[in-house]
Amino acid sequence: MSATERTYIMIKPDGVQRNLVGKIIARFEERGYKLIALKFVQPTKEHLEKHYADLSSKPFFPGLIKYMVSGPVVAMVWQGIDAVKTGRAMLGTTNPLQSPIGSIRGDYAISVGRNICHGSDSVESAEKEIALWFPEGVIQWTSVLESWIIENN
Ligand code: UDP
Ligand code: MG
Repeated sequence: MSATERTYIMIKPDGVQRNLVGKIIARFEERGYKLIALKFVQPTKEHLEKHYADLSSKPFFPGLIKYMVSGPVVAMVWQGIDAVKTGRAMLGTTNPLQSPIGSIRGDYAISVGRNICHGSDSVESAEKEIALWFPEGVIQWTSVLESWIIENN
């Protein structure tokens, strides 16, 4: 397991509007993941269509793009052991009603089309999404806490 695995996490427009930015960031910090990129951005329709290109044939695609372009989002990259899979578990399931209590969607959302946050679903898509949202690159830095979070690091 790699301590340098990275995932792309995004707080969607409803998460921003509902003032959940701090709480969501805190969950990743407290779990032990390292923030290596962050920006507050109003994405364009074209950019979101690229981000969700795999879903372009789905019936919910137009509604998804309309939702996602409706306001600014917080784009982030978090790094640490099993970042992709654990990030997804922290988010919960796509439909918040099926999402466990304790997950972000399970605690803060009740509608699939207003589910607060995005997380990469594989290491491969994480790398693609990081390149799309952070063409300028990420910031590698040394955390003094690292040896208290990751053994033998
Ligand atoms: N979505 C939707 N209706 C659906 C399925 C998905 O509105 O029936 C939206 C929802 O916001 C979801 C996003 O499309 O988060 C992307 O779908 P995906 O299947 O990739 O779910 P995720 O990876 O976000 O859990
Ligand atoms: Mg997805």
